[in-house]
Order: sequence, then C-alpha cells, then structure tokens
Amino acid sequence: MFACSRRTGNAGLEKSCIGVRSVGGMERGFVVVVCRACEDPPCAKVCPVDAITVREEGGVRIDLNKCIGCKNCQDACPLGAIFWDKESNKPLVCVYCGYCAQYCPHNVLALEKTEVSTGSTKEASKEEEKEEEKEAAKGVTA
Ligand code: SF4
Ligand code: SF4
Repeated sequence: MFACSRRTGNAGLEKSCIGVRSVGGMERGFVVVVCRACEDPPCAKVCPVDAITVREEGGVRIDLNKCIGCKNCQDACPLGAIFWDKESNKPLVCVYCGYCAQYCPHNVLALEKTEVSTGSTKEASKEEEKEEEKEAAKGVTA
C-alpha cells in the first residue's frame, strides 16, 4: 500500500490503489483488496459520464477530467477495489503497473498475465473472495 502511494510521490496511504483487509483477526490472516479486472466491469457500467473505459488487456482506466466524483463506481465494485482520493474527491483504481509487487518481501504479490475469466458477475466475484478468505484462513494470502 505504501509502495502504491509512493508511486505518485506520496508518503502515506492516501493514494494507494491496493488495500489489505483482515479476515477476522491476526490468526485468520489477511486478504489483498485490488481490482481483479472483471471482464464486464460493473464499475464502468454505472458511470454517468463515461469516465471509465475497459482496457483490452484487462482492468479499467478512469478519466479523472471527466469524473464528477459521484462514487457510483465505488459502490458498484463487488470487491471494494475502488479506493477514494479525499484530496481530489475522485476514485483510485489499480492500473496494473506492478510497482507494488517489487516491494512485497513475502512474494504475495505478482503481476502476471492470465486468461480472462468469464465469471464477472457479482456472485462470481463474491465466490472468489470467499475462496481467498478460506486460503487466508489457512495462512495463504493472494
Ligand atoms: S468492478 Fe472492481 S474489480 Fe471489477 S474492474 Fe471495476 S474496479 Fe476492477
Ligand atoms: S466517481 Fe467518477 S468515475 Fe466513478 S462513477 Fe462517478 S463519475 Fe464515474
């Protein structure tokens, strides 16, 4: 999170596009919260000003010049992977630069090309999240 924030020259966590969430105490572990590049992104569908475009290689781009800060995209992301920049009052989302992975001392993070899954529904994403939580409970984070 610090590395992601640092990418834009900030020392704190305010500009981070990645989060870490506990799944119920230290003994149960943690999950990384980051955009998982839905094939049919719900975040893009709800933007009233078409500020979100779907990248061919996966994930989304947000045109902050068009964005009006309505937070619809943040509400629509099933993973909670759209963070909020309080300074600009605009959303923050992972741009797949891979910078964070270089600073993860435990090799939890990696930037890899994968096949795009077809299950981009809210339910599918929630299933994925549940699986991650199970893995985290076993002490494995992704
Ligand atoms: S809905 Fe969330 S996980 Fe899916 S593309 Fe948008 S930001 Fe990424
Ligand atoms: S916060 Fe910005 S990018 Fe997100 S839905 Fe609203 S206008 Fe679109």
